[in-house]
Amino acid sequence: MQDSTIEWTDKTWNPVRGCDEIGPGCKNCYAKTFAERWRGVPGHAYEQGFDLRIAPDKLVEPLRWKNRQRIFVNSMSDLFHKDIPLAYIQDIAQVMQAAQWHTLQVLTKRSSRMRTLLNGSLQGAAEAPNIWWGVSVEDRKHGLQRLQHLREATHARVRWLSIEPLLEDLGEIDLEGISGVVVGGESGPRARPMQEEWVQNILRQCEEQHVPFFFKQWGGKNKKKTGRRLNGKLYNEQPPTSPFTPISYKDRQDLIKQFIPRIEYWKGRTDLEDLVFRKPEEKLQELGTERLSAASRDK
Ligand code: SF4
Repeated sequence: MQDSTIEWTDKTWNPVRGCDEIGPGCKNCYAKTFAERWRGVPGHAYEQGFDLRIAPDKLVEPLRWKNRQRIFVNSMSDLFHKDIPLAYIQDIAQVMQAAQWHTLQVLTKRSSRMRTLLNGSLQGAAEAPNIWWGVSVEDRKHGLQRLQHLREATHARVRWLSIEPLLEDLGEIDLEGISGVVVGGESGPRARPMQEEWVQNILRQCEEQHVPFFFKQWGGKNKKKTGRRLNGKLYNEQPPTSPFTPISYKDRQDLIKQFIPRIEYWKGRTDLEDLVFRKPEEKLQELGTERLSAASRDK
């Protein structure tokens, strides 16, 4: 886990690394740019660049962290990528539930798979008050469909939106059941511009529908210069964080011990290509369930 400079979180946690593009919001993916910089560097966490792989040695990291934190889950990947085994996602969800004093912030562009799992095998995690389930929204065509999927994840207790990079006016949006909205413009050398009226439109609707609003940044080529003030002030509202207090060092160690068989199980299984995980969704889920059952028997 590491300190984050992202305005709406405290730490990042990456039990999965790598991803691939799925929509226009991915065009200038900061994670890809960062990861590819290290491709081929022996021993570096991103030696394999942005290739998708699991990182079991990171699985219990939040349980080692004593103080309450907001933790961005998979800032360098997408938890619901189709090639991540179901059993591994289930293990991540169990860690998130066990680390209940933290607030885990999940954000995906694979909203269809998230909806399916939150309505199924991840229902317990969906209902946890310390986990925010969110989707990225960049435009009407792709982003609003993800919002619909999030709404259809009926067991999700805390739902949120990251509207970044905002690429066009979203028009009227139904925010019922949404506990918070983050808005931001794209940053970096190839940043696509964001109009103030698009932001004001979302702010107005959040205020009308009593949804917490967080303005992250204007973005652009120099995001420090453009800043994050809107209407002359900062907007820092967020969904509720975990209601639970931290536990003792011994209790944390006991929790970590429970996950050691799972970490051992996944070590050596990090190359997803070799594990023929590139299967249709149903087969993938079967495979994941079989692996979870087998691993439980082995304990
Ligand atoms: S889904 Fe996220 S991590 Fe994956 S390529 Fe797109 S922006 Fe990058």
